[in-house]
Amino acid sequence: MAKAKKNSAAEASLEKQIYDLRQLLEISKSLNSVIDFTSLIDALLYTCMGQMKTLGVAIFTKKNFDATCFQLNRNYYGFELDNDNDYSIPEDHPLIKKMAELNTSMTIADIKKAKISIDEPIKGLISLEPSLVVPLKSRNHVNGLLVLGEQITTEPYSDYDKEHILNIASLAAIAISNAALIEMTTTDMMTHLKMKHYFYTVLLEKLELSESQKIPLSVLMLDIDYFKRFNDTYGHACGDVVLQMVASVIQQNTRNQDMAARYGGEEFVVMLCDTPDTAAVKIAERIRSSIENLDILYEGQHLSLTISIGAAEYHPETDTSAKHLVERADKALYESKQTGRNRVTLAK
Ligand code: GH3
Ligand code: MG
Ligand code: MG
Repeated sequence: MAKAKKNSAAEASLEKQIYDLRQLLEISKSLNSVIDFTSLIDALLYTCMGQMKTLGVAIFTKKNFDATCFQLNRNYYGFELDNDNDYSIPEDHPLIKKMAELNTSMTIADIKKAKISIDEPIKGLISLEPSLVVPLKSRNHVNGLLVLGEQITTEPYSDYDKEHILNIASLAAIAISNAALIEMTTTDMMTHLKMKHYFYTVLLEKLELSESQKIPLSVLMLDIDYFKRFNDTYGHACGDVVLQMVASVIQQNTRNQDMAARYGGEEFVVMLCDTPDTAAVKIAERIRSSIENLDILYEGQHLSLTISIGAAEYHPETDTSAKHLVERADKALYESKQTGRNRVTLAK
């Protein structure tokens, strides 16, 4: 009788392990099928909540591939945040180094036991009162931290749970590292906008969606007015600063689902999803006037600049390709240049 009980307990434990392995396989498949960073983080957080039976989950990752700090991602669940706290941990902090070395999840008690002082950079993390901090480690590098709140059962995490979450974290770390690689190879280093070839890849997908679901889509082409003068008068480095400022204004005036890219030297293109031409012109006008009102201080001198814009809405019956649509926006841009610059023209 006792033996039968023992056997069935062993069977149940084996079944649980097989079940968790299957789960890991599913998690790996789903995480690796998402390349968009925001969607990837969301998928990961939901997975952790489900697998670890907790309502509190957050993640620290690098904002850009060239960042040197891990920042608390704005998607998080179940933690109270204090606006005065800076939730940013330098990549060379002793906690990160320790986690890279041990590759194990840690409780606050473990962190203290490892003689890592609770200094300013990790105060934000500690103030979240996490039950478990898990390293996201891939290719021998920590590329983020997963932060878990207490389990619904309020029991401490078991060793089995800790091992399971570490497995999930290592799958997540690979997916995050792949997403960062994609971001790196599709992003213009100077402006941090997307590159032209990637823009066309996404535009093609969105045009298909726009046609099949009858969702309006518009494109803006933008070109800085008399940009050559900046280079000639103040030097190439000044030109680069101006390019970065213009890129940042474009980014601030567009939504997450839109996409801004550097099309050429001082030319930009923006895809506006779910946007008919009337709204596109309003957005273009907002960008134009924000740039006109910029006061750029460069080596003690106040500089001002303007930009010309062409806008076009996608018409599936006549726009035979993505290029055709962009060319119509480009022609409208040319008209803006011809009619005096610092203006927005809508394509016919
Ligand atoms: P327009 O109003 O007709 O657009 O005049 P423009 O001077 O802006 O146009 P033009 O095409 O004559 O000059 C564009 C200049 O942009 C030429 C090139 O030196 C400069 N440029 C292109 N890429 C870069 C870059 O990455 N950095 C800097 N500093 N300059 C760049
Ligand atoms: Mg140009
Ligand atoms: Mg120009």
